[in-house]
Amino acid sequence: MSNHKYQICTNCIMDTSDSGIFFDQNGVCDYFNNYFKNIKPNWHTGNRGQQEIDKMLKKIRSAGKGKEFDCILGISGGIDSSYLTYLAKEKFKLNPLIFHVDGGWNSQQAVNNIEKLVDNLNLELHTEVINWEEMKDLQLAYFKSQVPHLDTPQDHAFFASLYNFAAKNNIKYILNGGNYSTECVREPLEWSYHASDLVQLKDIHSRFGSIKLETFPQADIFTYKIYYRFLKGVRVWRPLNCLPYIKDDAMNMLIEKFGWQKYAHKHYESRFTRFYEGYWLPSKFGFDKRRAHFSSLILTSQMTRNEAIEKINKSPYDPETIALDFEFIANKLDISVFELQEIHSGPNKSWKDYKSRQPLINLGTKVMRLLGIQRAIIR
Ligand SMILES: [Zn+2]
Repeated sequence: MSNHKYQICTNCIMDTSDSGIFFDQNGVCDYFNNYFKNIKPNWHTGNRGQQEIDKMLKKIRSAGKGKEFDCILGISGGIDSSYLTYLAKEKFKLNPLIFHVDGGWNSQQAVNNIEKLVDNLNLELHTEVINWEEMKDLQLAYFKSQVPHLDTPQDHAFFASLYNFAAKNNIKYILNGGNYSTECVREPLEWSYHASDLVQLKDIHSRFGSIKLETFPQADIFTYKIYYRFLKGVRVWRPLNCLPYIKDDAMNMLIEKFGWQKYAHKHYESRFTRFYEGYWLPSKFGFDKRRAHFSSLILTSQMTRNEAIEKINKSPYDPETIALDFEFIANKLDISVFELQEIHSGPNKSWKDYKSRQPLINLGTKVMRLLGIQRAIIR
């Protein structure tokens, strides 16, 4: 954390743990101001959203004519992708291939949720299992590199498998659960660097890894943003932005209708992510991703600021479970609890300490902002 004085936004709960945060004269942060200036005016969940849905469904159906599937949808077992799965089949009457990547850390809830949805909705599921020896080696390399974004190996595997599969199998539409409703406040890069930066992934692995990545799925940010998009014609659509999406309502519906299981917090459908976001990141770096998640819910009127403050002051899980998870993670990575503790107390680094594509990505982001494609703050 920086040596600046501590400050927290008066409207949401983003604070100086994001060292780039900017407050106006009323103590309101730039995420909040950006939301009302750039996101909300361009976010249509009523008639205009429905028109967008109709237009897209027409395109997707026509691209899928004569094919087994008209689109592909990545599912993690978490709320966003689960709800999107339900929408795609029940409401949109599409014929999606449901794609799941098993990175080795699935929680029981995640497995249950995927099974329940696939069975009840009569969907086709493709599961890609990542080679665990390679996953383990890369994950351990990230731990040793001391960067905060330890979720990169898992996230990279998820999106690279999906994009590579779509491009290879000539599936033109990827349905994505990304949305403003629960994610309008993006975590700063300082907390959560681009998982799609293959240059950085390779640099960290070459310094701290010990085996070759032979089958680990890889796709660079420019491969999918440019090559797949423009040469292979693979498009990404985020339907959750086109209709009212209220997280609690969506969860309750899935629980009632499908026996879907709740988990404690966003992203905790992976046991690794629970440990990483709930313990490692806040205790080692002072970054609490719940801050961004709750702030998104405050901005979209799904949580009050008081509620968020009360919740953020409590640890997301109890000390006993943390201890159990600590041992579980160490065992799975084939290191001792002591070695994992040593890494935890080592000096912190950031994405800036390794090679990256950030200058180019930055340029791309600026262009997308100018074109109005990118509206959330990315820094
Ligand atoms: Zn704020």
